[in-house]
Amino acid sequence: MWLLLRMDTPPDGILKALRSLAIEAQAHRLGNRWAIELQGNGYLPEMLLRYEEVERILPDDTPYPLVQRWNGSVELPSWKRREKLLWIAGPCSVENKAQLLSLAQDLKSLGVHVLRGGAFKARTSPYSFQGLGEVALEWLLEARSLIGLPICVEILSEKHLPLYEQVDILQIGARNMDHYWLLKEVGSTQKPVLLKRNPQATIEEWLLAAEYLLLHGSPWVLLCERGIRTFERSTRYMLDVGAIPVVQRQTLLPVIADPSHAAGHWRYVEPLALSAVGAGAEGLIVEVHPDPLQAQSDSAQQLTLDQFILLYQRANALFSARLGHLTQPV
Ligand code: PEP
Ligand code: MN
Repeated sequence: MWLLLRMDTPPDGILKALRSLAIEAQAHRLGNRWAIELQGNGYLPEMLLRYEEVERILPDDTPYPLVQRWNGSVELPSWKRREKLLWIAGPCSVENKAQLLSLAQDLKSLGVHVLRGGAFKARTSPYSFQGLGEVALEWLLEARSLIGLPICVEILSEKHLPLYEQVDILQIGARNMDHYWLLKEVGSTQKPVLLKRNPQATIEEWLLAAEYLLLHGSPWVLLCERGIRTFERSTRYMLDVGAIPVVQRQTLLPVIADPSHAAGHWRYVEPLALSAVGAGAEGLIVEVHPDPLQAQSDSAQQLTLDQFILLYQRANALFSARLGHLTQPV
């Protein structure tokens, strides 16, 4: 059993108190705070929670121990966790090299940290545009080296892994969250992963998918809430904002949101994005296209650059305002 201490709480006091009760205890650094590992079982949670330093108990019988105890850091060149909102933006699908390079340059100048773009697409209909595949990946890699933005690209099959060697963040899409053998292969590349929640998945199933990745070698995982399936059809999916603080009580892995796929329409992207930041999301992944009407996939939900700039400013302002009031891990 582990005890997660409150932010800015040193472990010395509680270690002393526990040892005076003959409880063997050891301190570990977990993210930006301390945790205490207790040897043996049988301690009463009520007794342990009486210590003011203790925020919560991490039980030994958790289904996802690596997710619960993850204490690594997220390495991205221009993003500092807890100081800035993480921005991942770009087109749904990569369609044209000149368009991609020019958009990537604009996004980089604005302050976006990671470029997204689909190469192999997972479409509901086999007759819809399936993505440009390998050539799209080449253009993304060109954008990466010319413009200096890390890239995040969805991977659909382990067969494509050799093509993704230089991709900075591998994206597991909503449809593949529970493709466990793909998760094992992707984990074993030891690359960071953006893991979308499957719209049918419970939070526990989503975190178990992240456990697969960490177990097989991923150094960190961005957990991305992107909307779940409910009876409501006005938006494409229903962004589960409540999942954000719930997951943050389970793990120190960063939780981000994708308002684009939840909304399904550009008009709803900003309100959903702001609600996610209000709920504690550490980052956003947003679809942006220079000319959404001409986009070959997800035309209705992609933002123009101007719309994105407004969202960027408003969400950053909200994030900064919220930062002063945070008691949670973020
Ligand atoms: C995407 O981000 O390109 C995508 C297809 O999203 P999702 O997997 O959430 O549907
Ligand atoms: Mn899309």
